[in-house]
Amino acid sequence: MGRELTTRCCVVGGGPAGMMLGVLLARSGIDTVVLEKHADFLRDFRGDTIHPSTLELLSELGWLEDFLRLPHQTIREIGVEIAGTRVTVADFSHLPVRCRFIALLPQWDFLDFLADRGATLPAFRLRQQAEATNLVMEAGRVAGVQVEDADGPLTVRADLVVAADGRHSRLRAAAGLVVRDLGASMDVLWMKLPRRSSDPEAVLGYAAAGHLLVLLNRGDYWQCAFVIRKGGFETVREAGLKHFRAALMRTAPLLAGRTGALDNWDAVKVLTVSVDRLERWCRPGLLCIGDAAHAMSPIGGVGINLAIQDAVAAARILAPALRSGAPDIATLRRVQHRRSWPTRATQRLQILAQDRIIRPVLAGGGGKLPLPFRLLSRFPALRRIPARLLGMGFRPEHLEA
Ligand SMILES: Cc1cc2nc3c(=O)[nH]c(=O)nc-3n(C[C@H](O)[C@H](O)[C@H](O)COP(=O)(O)OP(=O)(O)OC[C@H]3O[C@@H](n4cnc5c(N)ncnc54)[C@H](O)[C@@H]3O)c2cc1C
Repeated sequence: MGRELTTRCCVVGGGPAGMMLGVLLARSGIDTVVLEKHADFLRDFRGDTIHPSTLELLSELGWLEDFLRLPHQTIREIGVEIAGTRVTVADFSHLPVRCRFIALLPQWDFLDFLADRGATLPAFRLRQQAEATNLVMEAGRVAGVQVEDADGPLTVRADLVVAADGRHSRLRAAAGLVVRDLGASMDVLWMKLPRRSSDPEAVLGYAAAGHLLVLLNRGDYWQCAFVIRKGGFETVREAGLKHFRAALMRTAPLLAGRTGALDNWDAVKVLTVSVDRLERWCRPGLLCIGDAAHAMSPIGGVGINLAIQDAVAAARILAPALRSGAPDIATLRRVQHRRSWPTRATQRLQILAQDRIIRPVLAGGGGKLPLPFRLLSRFPALRRIPARLLGMGFRPEHLEA
């Protein structure tokens, strides 16, 4: 007999979606196991944004004060600099929530925070270095997952498996769920450059002829996201490091004198962007949430928010059903029904921004302010609309219906 473990709900993936769902279910008394293939949460290309809607949830949970004690920056406005003209795109000061800002902190701190909360709950078990390798099928339904952990193979049996294993979800592929690719036209180069104490605190976005660059403040360094055409890394590389460093400096003059830190291509990671979604998020015994159900583009930095909102809706809908056994397919479909409209609407906006703003900039047309930015610059009240969409999303979720 191989090793076996039985639980009510097995959540695969310890990202924002999986950790939030695991903690919320355990808080409702549902025995839950979260499997995470890595030994820790220390991966640096996941986005650092905790949105006002998530901060509101932390407040509903009574955890906000503790959370805000973690070192973080607050973003009350988002601005971009396009060909030397600075425009405020979003102003969070009018949102109907307690925290009218985005908290910027490394995502591993947020996930560690959730893991610490989970550790206080008897129904919560987090198993790290535990990789789900396949589904366990019984009588046509998903009955658990096969896992490989530090001690070898393990079978986890569960009334429900939730795939929160990200945009390359192995479980959604194993379940044969159909993915619709919406076509991302960009990739991101991800690297660190030194930050000086005299630098601005805020997130900085720059667009200049042919290039887009976002700088995230991580204390003593800038985490830089340089947007390139989809599949364009080989061309950037062939042009050479010197050319690349010059392009960074031309896009963000603030970086002058610091790009020397990039002395080989190993310091530059290529992050492949995808935008897709499942047609069906579930089959008997299995539900997909977060990027596993809908990979989000980094545009607007809303993927974490959507992943968390999925988790909150799923916990609210599933917990009562899980108390008495395996949720039926109609209950699983209710989660998709609840979350698919905000997902589709957000992805539509991301594709629109990609086609109308980012693509023209990457094609070298960054000299003129695109119309939406001209309007935002002229009518400050309009900045409340992007603030609402970025900060709250189309359908913010709460712990109670
Ligand atoms: C370049 C880039 C920058 C981004 N920046 C932002 C941003 O600033 N703000 C924002 O809101 N969003 C951003 N996003 C989007 C955001 O990263 C995702 O939407 C979000 O992380 C989705 O959360 P998730 O929990 O669904 O999946 P993930 O965060 O991908 O987590 C999935 C987890 O599952 C684990 N896992 C995978 N397979 C297995 C397995 N078989 N067994 C066990 N564990 C497994 C992984 O190790 C991982 O921990 C960005 C995306 C990209 C590509």
